[in-house]
Amino acid sequence: MELVDLTWKEVEEYLKKRQDILLPVGAVEEHGYHLPLSTDGDIARAVCAELSRRTGVLVAPIIWYGYSKSTRGYSGTVMVGKDELKNYIRSILEGFAESGFRVVYIVSGHFSNDHLRAIEDAAEEVREIKAKLLDFSNLDFSDILESEPLHACEAETSLMLFLHPDKVQMDKAKDEEIAYEGDMLRKTQSGVFGTPSLATREKGRLLFERIISELGKQVQFYY
Ligand SMILES: [Zn+2]
Repeated sequence: MELVDLTWKEVEEYLKKRQDILLPVGAVEEHGYHLPLSTDGDIARAVCAELSRRTGVLVAPIIWYGYSKSTRGYSGTVMVGKDELKNYIRSILEGFAESGFRVVYIVSGHFSNDHLRAIEDAAEEVREIKAKLLDFSNLDFSDILESEPLHACEAETSLMLFLHPDKVQMDKAKDEEIAYEGDMLRKTQSGVFGTPSLATREKGRLLFERIISELGKQVQFYY
């Protein structure tokens, strides 16, 4: 159930029953030769859509642009600054508060530390509303995955094979080693950091199920 598909009277009716909403956040950034720039947003939206289906919570329009410094320099990666992201999200949360919402669950498909911190800082600054980042990057997937989840990797590719198989060009997937230069990722040729060749649709299904069941508990808890 999408907020923007409703009329204002229908939103008014919804708010009489409950005052919570899901807010997906993505990133416009490269995901190797085999996944589209929309990958993070596609995953965030799919998670929100399934949580909405199971719990009845409304879903807000996605915030597409995020903070993605480590994939800068690849064609198509477009990021906003940390402060701009924080202020933009804070302003949107204030808009939800003014509209009568009281709880916002934020689901980000992009996991750079600075990006997540900008979201959490925005959430903390808005007093009129309880905004909670539902972070699935720290869940344990080690029984499903054979490699470390990082970027355009086994995990993200598996999720996309399950959610949007039409958007995955598996024949172009290239494995590349994860290496750091100080605290920054060392750039790879393809933009992959990890082992997408290990991805399968079945792993994607298992990952998605775990994400939904874990985040679903938090949605129930905060409501
Ligand atoms: Zn991603």
